[in-house]
Amino acid sequence: MTERKTETLVIIGSGPSAWTAALYAARANLNPLVFEGEPVGTMIPGGQLMTTTEVENFPGFPEGITGPELVERMRQQAIRFGVRTIQERIEKVELRRHPFVLKPSWSPEVEALALIVATGANAKWLGIPNEERLAQTGGGVSACAVCDGALPAYRNKVLAVIGGGDTAMEEGLYLTKFASQVVIVHRRDQFRASKVMVDRVLAHPKIRVLWNKKVTEVLGYESVGSLRLEDTVTGERSDLAVGGLFVAIGHEPNTKFLEGQVELTPHGYVRTPSPWRTCTSVDGVFAAGDVMDDYYRQAITAAGTGCMAALEAERWLAHHGLGMSPILETADAPVPASPAARTT
Ligand code: NAP
Repeated sequence: MTERKTETLVIIGSGPSAWTAALYAARANLNPLVFEGEPVGTMIPGGQLMTTTEVENFPGFPEGITGPELVERMRQQAIRFGVRTIQERIEKVELRRHPFVLKPSWSPEVEALALIVATGANAKWLGIPNEERLAQTGGGVSACAVCDGALPAYRNKVLAVIGGGDTAMEEGLYLTKFASQVVIVHRRDQFRASKVMVDRVLAHPKIRVLWNKKVTEVLGYESVGSLRLEDTVTGERSDLAVGGLFVAIGHEPNTKFLEGQVELTPHGYVRTPSPWRTCTSVDGVFAAGDVMDDYYRQAITAAGTGCMAALEAERWLAHHGLGMSPILETADAPVPASPAARTT
């Protein structure tokens, strides 16, 4: 069996949290290795910004910047400081022993003294014709009102929000600032959102609710023009003219590969038990970005927690006498066990 190479710090992910963590770790001489992921189906490395056209709320870009360009600039900045990258996914982890063992898609396993999980979350889509295509081309379909709602394309238009949870309520209320009218389309006859949010939505003069309706198709070539609806009770079909569509049916954090080895929240996000910290239930494993944040979900907050995770990993490694040790340069040298190490 080939010897595993031992890395000081491995970062899994390639969105704002991963690249910010990599940048800080590289500048702290931790020589981080980033597993960026690889294209699988409609998923591409880079996170949710890869399907965001204009980013106008990331400080430092007064003219705005496209999502993919922002990610690429973050990546280049990290690489400039020596960050090594591998375009593969981590398929399996073994976190019950230390150093941790990571299994990439096809390269040999690697060991890591510290790990930052920054694998993000994906907005759920309805999976209907035209939806993701128009989201990717800036054609008036989005899964984030805070990110996109203020763009000129959505101003003074009828905007539809799909969903009946707190996210849909929040997005609907937020969009009333820009829309001529917000139509919340829900597949049942009652919302699952908290009462306070529901009350606010139902009382808002700019919001109308369409109950018992599901969207079966997004109509429009360059941009959305209308939605094809089907009544979930009667089966009756109708079209709703809209200038924008916001899908708010939840997010799915990318935590499956952790296989229950790190504690998750009831919604599947990595739990970071201490306020304002990124440490997880496993000593030496840190989490940053949307994989641990189901509340803010912004590129800037992801970048902020990426910075926090790198600083915390650096301190954790230093505290345990790991990280800067020259023996780490050789793959086959034994690594001193951390006091907190778990061995099988
Ligand atoms: P959620 O609570 O799971 O709600 C998802 C909504 O989307 C549900 O109403 C569901 O309909 C609908 N839906 C799911 N799949 C659908 C499909 N294929 N077609 C049509 N509709 C579909 O998700 P969330 O709203 O993102 O909230 C997630 C968690 O975060 C919740 O615990 C929530 O309370 C919390 N959160 C809190 C706040 C806040 O406190 N300010 C803000 C946002 C989120 P059904 O109801 O019929 O299942």
